[in-house]
This record gives sequence, C-alpha cells and structure tokens, in this order.
Amino acid sequence: MSFSKLGLSASLQNAVSAQGYTTPSPIQEQAIPAVLTGKDVLAAAQTGTGKTAGFALPLLQRLSEGRKPASNCVRALILTPTRELAAQVEQSVSEYSRDLPLSSAVVFGGVGINPQMKRLRRGVDVLVATPGRLLDLYQQNAVKFHQLEILVLDEADRMLDMGFIHDIKRILKLLPEQRQTLLFSATFSPTVTALAETITKQPVKIST
Ligand code: AMP
Repeated sequence: MSFSKLGLSASLQNAVSAQGYTTPSPIQEQAIPAVLTGKDVLAAAQTGTGKTAGFALPLLQRLSEGRKPASNCVRALILTPTRELAAQVEQSVSEYSRDLPLSSAVVFGGVGINPQMKRLRRGVDVLVATPGRLLDLYQQNAVKFHQLEILVLDEADRMLDMGFIHDIKRILKLLPEQRQTLLFSATFSPTVTALAETITKQPVKIST
C-alpha cells in the first residue's frame, strides 16, 4: 500500500514524503479514506501508531476545498488532553500543511491568554486546543464556532480520565450540529463509548 492510493492530493503526498514516511501505517490506511468521505469516524488507536497523520492529512485535504475562516472563526477544532500533545499535534499539522494555503494555531492553559486572543483575531483553519483554555477564550469572545466543519477528539479516553467531560460537553453545545466528528481513543470503555454515541452520527468504526 502507498499514500498515493489513499486519495490524498499531490501537496499532501509531498508533505508526507518530506516527513520521510513511505508506507501508510494500518490506522492511516483505514482512517484516511474514511475521513475523506466526510463521514464521522470512531478509531481505536494507541499513541505511536501514526494516528495524528491518520486524522490530520485527510482533515487538511477537506479544508483545502473550502473557504477561508472569518475573523475569530475556526474551521477545524482538535481537542487534546494535555498541552504537550496539543503542541505536538499542531506541529504535525503545520508540517503537513506547508504547501497548502491553510493556517493552524495552538492554545492551552498555563501561559498568557493575550497572545492567543490576538492570534485568533485573524481566524484559523485548524485550531488545536486543550478544553479549559478553549472555554476561557470563548468566554472572552475570542473564538467563534459558526464556521466549524470538523471536530476531532484526540485521546478521548485520556481526556475523560483527566476529568474533562464537563468541559467537553460545554464545548459540544457551542458547535454546529452539522459537522464531521472524529474520535480517536486508545481504549473504548463504557464512558468513551457513551460519549462517542452522543457526539457522532453513523460513524465508520476503525480498529487495527
Ligand atoms: P503518532 O502515533 O501520531 O503520535 O505518530 C508516531 C510517530 O510516527 C510520529 O513521530 C510520526 O511522525 C511517525 N509516523 C506517522 N506516520 C508514519 C508513517 N506512515 N511512516 C513512518 N512514520 C510515521
């Protein structure tokens, strides 16, 4: 199997080669075509399996087909449990999108909010965020979700273990009903499954 068979654009295939990836990982083989269809996806994937590229590459391809975000608007939101993961995911998104006219940004707590508010004013195609800081930014009117097309919950089980369920539920109430939702989790406990059932519609289920 090669990346060229998965339906990715030439720009994204180049970005993948520039990373030194030659063959898609099993999760990528399944997730990339599924996400490209626009359907919701539930994926069981551990860290280190290439899951980030599994959602980020097709997400970027879908966004490259649409319009630019208005001021303070976000087109794709990736929620992660920790700032380290948020920073790492945004780094990957920015590398994969180097040849595309798409912007990305990362916001997390524990650092000043003002630079984040300033950055969001220009609008952002892909925002990677931890839940608490995202809600703070929303309360300050710094982020708007009416242009949101895609939501990703990364490491959903860890987010629930860390007690983010209430923040996640509050965020979900702010998002448009009509969107694509992707949920990645290492494990599917009854709580993760219950969350998945409330936030996805007829999802494609993936496990490796
Ligand atoms: P992740 O599971 O998303 O945290 O990715 C784990 C590591 O695998 C990261 O360092 C990626 O850059 C790398 N990686 C992702 N996809 C591939 C691939 N298809 N071939 C080789 N390395 C990859």
